[in-house]
Amino acid sequence: MTISVVIPLYNEEENVAELHRRVKSAMDGTGKEYEVIFVDDGSTDRTLPLLQEIQSADRNAVVLSLRRNFGQTAAFAAGFDYARGDVIVTLDGDLQNDPDDIPKLLELLPENDIVSGWRKKRKDPFLSRRLPSVMANWLISKVTGVTLHDYGCSLKAYRREVVKNLKLYGEMHRFIPAVANWYGVKIAEVETTHHPRLRGKSKYGISRTVRVVLDLITVKFLQSFSTKPLQFFGPIGLLSGIIGLLISFYLTVEKVFSGRDIGGRPLLLLGALLIIVGIQFMGMGLLGEMMVRVYHETQKKPIYVIKKVSRHEDK
Ligand code: UDP
Ligand code: MG
Repeated sequence: MTISVVIPLYNEEENVAELHRRVKSAMDGTGKEYEVIFVDDGSTDRTLPLLQEIQSADRNAVVLSLRRNFGQTAAFAAGFDYARGDVIVTLDGDLQNDPDDIPKLLELLPENDIVSGWRKKRKDPFLSRRLPSVMANWLISKVTGVTLHDYGCSLKAYRREVVKNLKLYGEMHRFIPAVANWYGVKIAEVETTHHPRLRGKSKYGISRTVRVVLDLITVKFLQSFSTKPLQFFGPIGLLSGIIGLLISFYLTVEKVFSGRDIGGRPLLLLGALLIIVGIQFMGMGLLGEMMVRVYHETQKKPIYVIKKVSRHEDK
C-alpha cells in the first residue's frame, strides 16, 4: 500500500517547517511507502520557497504550486489529480490537525472507503466557529442522509478510487463523503486531536456558513435528481399549472354563466401566473432531461457504478 498525503497551504510560512517535520515523522513511523503532496494555493508569502527547499531535500515530498489562489477545494482537487498512492490522506497545513492521527485513520481504512476525522474537542472560537459548525453538521447529515459529526474536518483518509472519480466545485471538499456516497461507499469516523491555530491566520470568517449552505443545496439537488431533473421540477410545475387551470376554469364559468366581470380580479392574475410558472417549471425539467442525456451519452458516462463482475468466460 502506498500513501499520498495531500496538504493545501495558503500563506502558512510560519507552519511549513514544523508541518513537514511532523508529517514526516508520522509517516516514517507507519513503515509504508508514501509521498507528501504540498499544494501551494498561490501564497503571497514565503510558503512556496520554503516548500521548494523542503522538496529538494526530501525524496518523499512533492510540491504543486498553483498559479493563483484558487481556494482550498481546488487545492485538494489538484493534490488528488497528482496523487499516486492507493490511499489518499488529507489534512490542513496549519497544524490544527495532528499528523500523528494519520496511522489511526489508516488502520480503519481496509474495511472502509473513507475514514473521517472527528474533532470532538475542537479548539476554535465557540460563537464564530463551533456553533455554526454544529448546526451545519446536523443540517448536512439530515439533508444528505450521510451522518457524520464533523464534515468540516480536513483530516480524512480515502481509498484512491473514491477521490479519483470525483469532480469538486466551489467549497465542496467538505461534502466529499456525501457526494461519494452516491457511489456506495463505506464511511467510518474516528476521534482526532485538534489544536488551536498557533501561527498564521485563519482564511475564513463567519460568511463561510452561507457558502456551505448554498453548496449543500447543490449537493442535495445533484444527489437526488441529477439523472432525473423532471422528477424534481415536474411535480412543482404540474401542481402550479393545475391550480392555475382550475382557477381560470372557475373564473370562466363565472363569466359565462353569471356574466360577472372578471377583468379586475386578483384571482385572474393568480391563475394566469400559476399557469405560466407551471409551464416554466415543466420546461426547465425537460431541458434538464435533455442535458442529462447530452452529458451521459456524449461522454459515455454510466448512471451506475459497478463494484465487481462475476461470470464464466465464453468458450
Ligand atoms: N487554504 C488554502 N487555500 C485557501 C484557504 C485556505 O489552501 O484559499 C488552506 C490553509 O492554508 C489551511 C487549510 O486550507 O492549510 C485550512 O484553512 P484555515 O486553517 O484557514 O481554515 P480553518 O481551520 O480556520 O477552518
Ligand atoms: Mg485551520
